[in-house]
Amino acid sequence: MSTINPVAQRFESELAELATLVDSDRPGWTRRALSEFDIAGRDYALTLMKHAGLATRVDGAGNVIGVLPGRLGGREIMLGSHTDTVDGGGRFDGITGVLGAIEVVRLLRENDVRLDHDLVVVVFFNEEPNDFGFFCVGSRAMTGLVDRTTLTATDTDGRSLAEALPDSGIDPEAFLDARYDFSKVTAFLELHIEQGPELERMGKQIGVVETITGINHFKALFTGRQDHAGTTPMDVRADAGCAAAGTVLAVESIAESGTNTRGTSGQIQFTPEAVNVVSANASVEGEFRGPDGSWLQEAQRRLTDAASQNADKRGVHVEMEWTTDDAPVPLHEPITSTIAEVATDLGHTRATMFSGAGHDAGIIAAKTQVGMIFVPSRDGRSHCPEEFTELADILPGIEVLLQTVLRLDGVSTSGRAAGSGGAQLA
Ligand SMILES: [Zn+2]
Repeated sequence: MSTINPVAQRFESELAELATLVDSDRPGWTRRALSEFDIAGRDYALTLMKHAGLATRVDGAGNVIGVLPGRLGGREIMLGSHTDTVDGGGRFDGITGVLGAIEVVRLLRENDVRLDHDLVVVVFFNEEPNDFGFFCVGSRAMTGLVDRTTLTATDTDGRSLAEALPDSGIDPEAFLDARYDFSKVTAFLELHIEQGPELERMGKQIGVVETITGINHFKALFTGRQDHAGTTPMDVRADAGCAAAGTVLAVESIAESGTNTRGTSGQIQFTPEAVNVVSANASVEGEFRGPDGSWLQEAQRRLTDAASQNADKRGVHVEMEWTTDDAPVPLHEPITSTIAEVATDLGHTRATMFSGAGHDAGIIAAKTQVGMIFVPSRDGRSHCPEEFTELADILPGIEVLLQTVLRLDGVSTSGRAAGSGGAQLA
């Protein structure tokens, strides 16, 4: 099919360059949003975009946006991902999609392919969770999902997001006004590492994402009675810690009951923390994820019941709060089937999949048709220094990204059948 191949050395050297723009005091490759390292990372991406021939700008929310004008103009195909990382993260999460999109631009220009659509590349600001309780901040700002209450959120030092943004060159008022006009965007595509073990397990090269996970966060606060650990008989205790522990195990058993469902209790705290005192208070914070919205609702009900039962039988009081209730996001036909066809035509093995991780693509999906392309993660590891994807496994993802852009460009502006568009390459 295509004779256009990504230039491996370019991708490799840019990946290596970005890997130097990290907080060396932290483990792995740490470039958290709102840090000086993140500013340097987005600046580097901006420079690459300029060199690739894109007209660049930074919007009010810190999103780096580059445009390659098309022949017709007015309609856009958008590509993007992020360059920020979690604390102690890896070199590939987000970065693969950013460098892959920039490589697509270079390949188009070097091969004298002019799209009908404008091709827009976005480096989204702050995709990973920040200290203010938000993630996918840049894409939320572009889609109008931020407001003044977002700005008043505080970190553990009591500093507000409005106070923190200017250090990253972002004016809070401009942040609120960074809505993007998605009415002109035909499709959004994000190339990303899988961050899980499925592609490797199946021996497939390309993952075609059908659904991005829903996420429900909960906070359970248990109030019991503080007592002496040696003199208080077991049958008269109101042990908040035991009620919390029973709830943690319920999260595990509920999550084991579904398909592709996950349940995690990542934070648990007993008060007072003393080896010889029955806990007066306990808190558990955790989450459920899964591709099925009705299962997530059912999991909420079951865990709320389980927490009540664990509390009631011990004479403990529980307050259960569901703090996030994000439904699963189905990605769009015909984008997903186009990605699948392209992968097959290029001779790459593929599988349809569910993304257990959240992505900017899931936010953008509320505004335009979205597709995601996954490449394998070694041992399924991610959000850790061991995160790794072979260059030989990334290049097919870039090829699929490029050819999907060409097909969508040919189909959607001219109405011609897939593969017969003016920009097709053979
Ligand atoms: Zn990511």
